[in-house]
Amino acid sequence: MRPAIELRAIHRIFETEAGFAHVLHNISLTVDTGEFIAITGPSGSGKSTLMNILGCLDTPTSGTYLLEGLDVAKLNDDELAEVRGGRIGFVFQSFNLLPRMSVIDNVMLPLSYTDCRRADRERRAIHALRAVELPVDHCDHRTNQLSGGQMQRVAIARALVRDPAIILADEPTGNLDSSTGAAVLATFHRLRAQGKTIVLITHDERIAAVADRTIEIRDGRLRASATRPPLESPTESDDAPRAAEAGV
Ligand code: ADP
Ligand code: MG
Repeated sequence: MRPAIELRAIHRIFETEAGFAHVLHNISLTVDTGEFIAITGPSGSGKSTLMNILGCLDTPTSGTYLLEGLDVAKLNDDELAEVRGGRIGFVFQSFNLLPRMSVIDNVMLPLSYTDCRRADRERRAIHALRAVELPVDHCDHRTNQLSGGQMQRVAIARALVRDPAIILADEPTGNLDSSTGAAVLATFHRLRAQGKTIVLITHDERIAAVADRTIEIRDGRLRASATRPPLESPTESDDAPRAAEAGV
């Protein structure tokens, strides 16, 4: 099957007042359709930068990104908007909800750029809210009245409302206490069982434990990647052959 995501030799260099910041170095990564990948790594290592590229929110300085076989660099603005809204669901760490709008209006937002009618938009938003197990009587609440765990579930529902094949999440349990984190984790479990491709950044070992593969980024470079159960290569000292074996 065609991979969901294929990165080839991606570099990202930011131009700053202090000079150039070379944040991602030669990242090559293949994510199969239906695979669940966890990305870990220290703060500042380039995880969000990579995620923004995967979500087509940022463009690599060099290298190739194939999304379901399409070269993202060759898409026009309309096609890019369609990919961002329809093929990919992106869950931001800070939720990015509109605080003065109701839960259901937040979740319907990605549908406002489609020709979907209001009744249909509401139906789909309620379906997405059910999928994340948010009580339907919360629909009319403003999002600033919700707890952190509820806000995160609304953010996930908004990412799911167009039924994207690929779900990207930047530290989805990072701001949550452990019991709400567990509920969010259960949601990702179910999405995986539905065949969604999931890439998420996490420091949460419970998530890393259920992923098919965990990838570590350090100083903008991919380190060894382990499939579950971990690859046994105790004699390997160099990352490169092991990474190649793991399909990175
Ligand atoms: P992580 O998500 O792993 O904590 P980030 O990808 O957010 O790391 O950041 C990695 C590095 O890239 C940091 O040093 C950060 O300051 C830098 N960086 C991220 N975005 C920009 C930007 N737009 N301009 C300049 N530097 C950036
Ligand atoms: Mg980050």
